[in-house]
Amino acid sequence: MTRDAWSSGAMTPDLIPEGPDGPDSAEGPDGLGSPSVLDLAAAELAAGQFLQALGVSLDSESLRGTPGRMARAYAELFTPRPFNMTTFPNDEGYDELVLARAIPVRSVCEHHLLPFTGVAHVGYLPGDRILGLSKLARVVEHFSRRPQVQERLTKQIGDWLYSHLRPCGVGVVIEAEHTCMTVRGVQAAGSRTVTSTLLGTLREDPRSRQEFFALTGVSA
Ligand SMILES: [Zn+2]
Repeated sequence: MTRDAWSSGAMTPDLIPEGPDGPDSAEGPDGLGSPSVLDLAAAELAAGQFLQALGVSLDSESLRGTPGRMARAYAELFTPRPFNMTTFPNDEGYDELVLARAIPVRSVCEHHLLPFTGVAHVGYLPGDRILGLSKLARVVEHFSRRPQVQERLTKQIGDWLYSHLRPCGVGVVIEAEHTCMTVRGVQAAGSRTVTSTLLGTLREDPRSRQEFFALTGVSA
């Protein structure tokens, strides 16, 4: 899968109002979850060569299938699952912060292709529409399933929600441990990286911003 496939917008979920079939019944209309370039056989071959070049023998029964498992594992990590971005009219005019705390984040750092894991706190101040709550987690997952850097992931989640849901404000905080920092290199076990992005009212209004960070449990 190429960078172009991600940046072209072809993989971006559409904003779909709640339909008669319910929120999770339909696939995204844009082929979400089907990378345009995914050649598992070529990936398996390359994985085998990669391991052998590093002196890893694939002769044992246990390792024989490893290149194929590697290829499938990375394909999974780089392939977002389809989902519909279910929204509902904000009939009650709810205008307080909606916050989903501790959404699991599982992604792969694009510099070392090693996993980074942690949690995301994603909140928004509703505008005309509100979002099915589970969808905040799906947006996080969507942008996690590709080679990433935490800073970009944080911003992509915020920007996407801001432009598609059109809320009054969006805030995203991600706290994650990068295995490229903990199992290799500086081996800073337990160190967590915190990134945040704020948009709209959450960026401009100090009280909203403070409330957001207080509710996420992250010190502003
Ligand atoms: Zn890294």
